This record gives sequence, C-alpha cells and structure tokens, in this order.
Amino acid sequence: MEHFQRLSDDDLATCVHCGLCLDACPTFRVTGLETESPRGRIYLMTQWKRGTMRFDEEQVRHIDLCLGCRTCEAVCPSGVPYGRIIEAGRADVEDARRLSFKRRASRVALRQLLGHPARLRAFGALTRTAQAVGLTSVVRSGRQLPRLRGQFRPPAGRVAPAIGERKHRVAFLVGCVMPILYPQSHDAAVKLLQLAGCEVWFPAGERCCGALFAHNGDLEGAERLREANTRVYSAEHFDALIVDSAGCGAHLKDFYPGLKGRVKDLSEWLAEVGLPEPRREVKVRVTYQDACHLAHAQRIKKQPRELIRSMPGVELVEMRHPDICCGAAGLYSTLEPDMSRRILEQKLDDLMGTRAEVVVTANPGCQMQLEAGLRPLGSAIRVEHIAELIARAY
Ligand code: SF4
Ligand code: SF4
Repeated sequence: MEHFQRLSDDDLATCVHCGLCLDACPTFRVTGLETESPRGRIYLMTQWKRGTMRFDEEQVRHIDLCLGCRTCEAVCPSGVPYGRIIEAGRADVEDARRLSFKRRASRVALRQLLGHPARLRAFGALTRTAQAVGLTSVVRSGRQLPRLRGQFRPPAGRVAPAIGERKHRVAFLVGCVMPILYPQSHDAAVKLLQLAGCEVWFPAGERCCGALFAHNGDLEGAERLREANTRVYSAEHFDALIVDSAGCGAHLKDFYPGLKGRVKDLSEWLAEVGLPEPRREVKVRVTYQDACHLAHAQRIKKQPRELIRSMPGVELVEMRHPDICCGAAGLYSTLEPDMSRRILEQKLDDLMGTRAEVVVTANPGCQMQLEAGLRPLGSAIRVEHIAELIARAY
C-alpha cells in the first residue's frame, strides 16, 4: 500500500506471534480482545503494509487504542521493537486516513502550542487565572489539570552552581508542559543535582523535545524540534542531559542520535553519581508507579526504588502491578477517555490496596492521571514526583 512507507518489513517480521506479550498489554487486559493486543496490532499493520487487508476506519481504532506504553516490548522474547513500529505505524496511518476533527485539533494544538515556549507560558498564565476565578471548565482538559502554582524559571545566567565541590556539569531539560504543570518537581530535581555536585546548565533556546509529536504520529513535527534542539545542545559542553520526565527521556534516547549515551533520567543519574547522606527522616508509606517510558522504554526500574529505599523513615510498599500503565499515555486520556478510564480504574484498585500515603512516579502525565483518578474518590493519597519525595530528606 503506497501510504505505508515508514513501517519497516524487518521490524514487523521480528514478531513470531507467540502471544507472550498479551497479558502485559493494558488494553488486552481490559478487553480480552486479540485485536486490542500487541500481536493483533502487529498483524494488522503487517497486512496493511503488504496491501493484503483493506485499510478502514474501523480497523484503525485498534491502532488508536494502543497506549504506546511499550510494556509489550519489555516482555517480548523476540526483541520486537514495538515502540519504533507503533510510531512509524501511527505516522503511516495518519497519512492514509481522514483525520477526525478531534485528532486534527490535537495535531494543530501540538504544533501551535507545545513547539512554542512563549505561547505555552501564556497558556499557563491564562489557565492559572481561570483556575483562580473558578473558570477551569473553559479549558478543554481542565478536569485533568492540576492546580497550577506558578512556573519554573531557570536561575539568572541559566546556571545553578553545584553545592560543595563541583564534580559534573549537566544540562537540564526544562521541557514544555512540566515547568507549567509541575514546577515544584523541577525545583526539587535541580536541588538534588546541585547536592550531588552538579553544576546545572539550562540551555537557552531549547524547545519541546518532540515526544508528544512522535507518539501522536507527527514525525515531521518531531524532526523539526530535534533539529532546533540539536543546534542548542551542540553549543556547549556537558557531561549528561538530565531529564525528569520519563516520556521525554525515552524520546531523547531513541530519537536524538547526537546525544547517544548522554541522556540520563534523573534517578539513573543520581544512582550513578550518588547523593550525600540524607539529613532527615521522612516517615511516610510510599508506593511507586513505574512510568511506562521509564520502566519499559528505558528499562529503569531498580534505580528509583533504590533511591526511595535509601531514605530513612520511608516505607516502600509495592502494588501488585506497578509497571502496568495508568492510562495517561501522553494525549491518550484526552483522545481516548473511555479506555483510559477503564485502565485507570484497575490502577486505582491496585493503588488503594497498598494503603500508601503517597504514590510516587517520574512522569507528569502519570501524575496528572493519578491525581485525576484520586480526586473524585476523595482519597487522601498524595501524588508526588520522585524528586519531590527524595528532596524532602534534605
Ligand atoms: S510481540 Fe513479541 S511477545 Fe508479542 S506475539 Fe510478537 S513475538 Fe510474541
Ligand atoms: S504499547 Fe502498550 S497498549 Fe500498545 S500494544 Fe504494547 S502493551 Fe499494548
């Protein structure tokens, strides 16, 4: 089929249809349908690529409903590069289909908003005002937005000095939505880096990394951002680019060959370079939600848990399925609210069973999703970024 140019025959052929990924797939777990499983989706994309199956909107729904969480990739014994397959498949699908109004609108919003830091800051200020006067319903996704508390701003001179001896120089990804939605997570992350002996550089002119564009099938938009950011990152020397948002970290590792080996998730880096001894006890019962793009795409599960366990007073209790998606998945909770809610309900059941006071994660989308699920239940469980929790010990 002429439209299916990006999907690779070699990638698709790595699937041997064993089905070992099925039980790990959140949409299969909720529906029990082969068509909502990794194997079913790979089969469908293979047939479209070969031109042996008619491409129609009904079938495309199975691709839309994929979270892109990559749990299947982590458990697949054949090494199927599912993340690459679904990104290429989505881009091919978006070329071949007539986009629904909702999907067209999401693409325009991404290009017009996320790619432009000044517009995003203005959007953040407007939303804060709307929240202050009780008008959040004017914002489409207002029901999911946390209460905004100002914006993260890099220090004067765009450098935060190391506390104590300077051992490393790192760049810090400020990103697009995180400085607006969760400035306190960035504040805590930077403080931890400084404590770990890092001088932290905030590159001027850095744009959104492009993760949400790529996940949404807009690979051209993602490429434009990569080119702009690559110019910014080549301007100065740094040991590592530190990322405290799992989705961005996974995208930077996969999509920016110029940064190969130098992109580090915050917990990965802190585990490597070490933090000083904690200064105080934090008595709290915590459970950890693996962000899919940290656990499955970056295969980082051990380091965040070790950091949490290293805090005096903290009790870490595991959920039954901490590494199953919460249903956030970038724009998924907005584009596919019904399936997202069904997946979230399973997550909340699991979460409540731990009797934790705090649920910790490492991705703003997961934070928002968990908060949106817990709020209507009147639950007292707080949602925190891992950096916030660890910083409480200093
Ligand atoms: S994706 Fe991997 S685990 Fe799933 S059916 Fe294919 S080969 Fe098996
Ligand atoms: S990426 Fe997630 S939702 Fe999509 S097929 Fe794989 S496990 Fe299922």
